Amino acid sequence: MRFETKAIRQKLKTTAEREHSTPIFPTSSFIYEDAEQMRALFAGEQTGNIYSRFTNPNCQEFEAKMASLEGTETAISTASGMAANFAALLGHLKSGDHLLASRALFGSTFNMISQYLPQWGITYDWLDTASPQNWDQQVNINTKLVFIETPSNPGLEIIDLKKVGAFCKKHDLIFAVDNCFATPYLQQPAKFGADLIIHSATKFIDGQGRVLGGVICGNEKVIKPIYQFCRNSGPSLSPFNAWILSKSLETLAVRMDRHCQNALELSLWLSEQQGIKKVNYPFLETHPQHAIAKQQMSQGGGIVTFELEEGLEAGVILMNSVQLLSLSANLGDTRTIISHPASTTHAKLSEADRINIGITPGLVRLSVGLEHIEDIKNDLAQAIKLI
Ligand SMILES: *Cc1c(COP(=O)(O)O)cnc(C)c1O
Repeated sequence: MRFETKAIRQKLKTTAEREHSTPIFPTSSFIYEDAEQMRALFAGEQTGNIYSRFTNPNCQEFEAKMASLEGTETAISTASGMAANFAALLGHLKSGDHLLASRALFGSTFNMISQYLPQWGITYDWLDTASPQNWDQQVNINTKLVFIETPSNPGLEIIDLKKVGAFCKKHDLIFAVDNCFATPYLQQPAKFGADLIIHSATKFIDGQGRVLGGVICGNEKVIKPIYQFCRNSGPSLSPFNAWILSKSLETLAVRMDRHCQNALELSLWLSEQQGIKKVNYPFLETHPQHAIAKQQMSQGGGIVTFELEEGLEAGVILMNSVQLLSLSANLGDTRTIISHPASTTHAKLSEADRINIGITPGLVRLSVGLEHIEDIKNDLAQAIKLI
């Protein structure tokens, strides 16, 4: 089956009610025929539902779909994207281990790696993504895992998955990718050797700004320790959210096609507007890693950033002048969202750290939605005129 068909047709077995659409299973636990069945399930001799912290049918449907869309053996869902990132790392790293991570990361991921992991004896270095020739020197005897985000939030840095895959294989490192911006429809990191593919399902997977969720896809061997960590620490996805997310996957392909079409058209249009210094979109020829993006992504994604000539003040005026666009920190919604990372999502970082990951004072991020492209352009045009 192709991507679209898998995303739609893969589902739980129909119950005795013969329903067409998967029902929700809001139950905290499951019952057993007898003591023997209960014993066998707990011993792992039989597979089946036990308790919704670690087994729930809705979560399983969502996980099975995500695994098949990412091309991995299995997956485990979590309550949020951050819970997924945290569990992926904590399932594999212990005190004394060393981690290499790309520096251009989602704000909370950056904070987790740089503030929390060192408190537990897990050290890190930022992978010099621009200079692959330096990577070998960055590996220590205790380096265990490489974590990257591509495209990065919000800088849209593209990292060569094939190169990182080969590097990890050479040094026997676990290769983890936050694939949130691309979704499996545009990019499947497992094809390039990634072991762990992590998503904030809150974004394009939900796609309608409703629920939080996360998922980690990988083969049995690398997911097992993460499953154990989740089972024992409890960052579980609720059955209701899993049900929403599994339904959302049915429309992921058509939604992503339109997000990408709108984003590409908008990025070309923005490039011609006065007062805008630089437009950043992976599928624009002017993007610094355009060639790599074309090699590993089927389309450019739904996020566009641009730099206002007048900097911070112009950004604030623009944010205050849009009428249709939403001011929000979320992304991957049907509704176009405008945000200003320096004063919002990345405000906790120092100015120097922000500049280091490409967040300048005038940087504006657009999560291009599914409204008619002319309405999005018209709103931005009237707001840009007021700067
Ligand atoms: C939003 C986001 C996260 C965190 O996901 P939540 O669901 O908000 O916890 C992680 N990585 C990236 C790239 C994100 O955009």
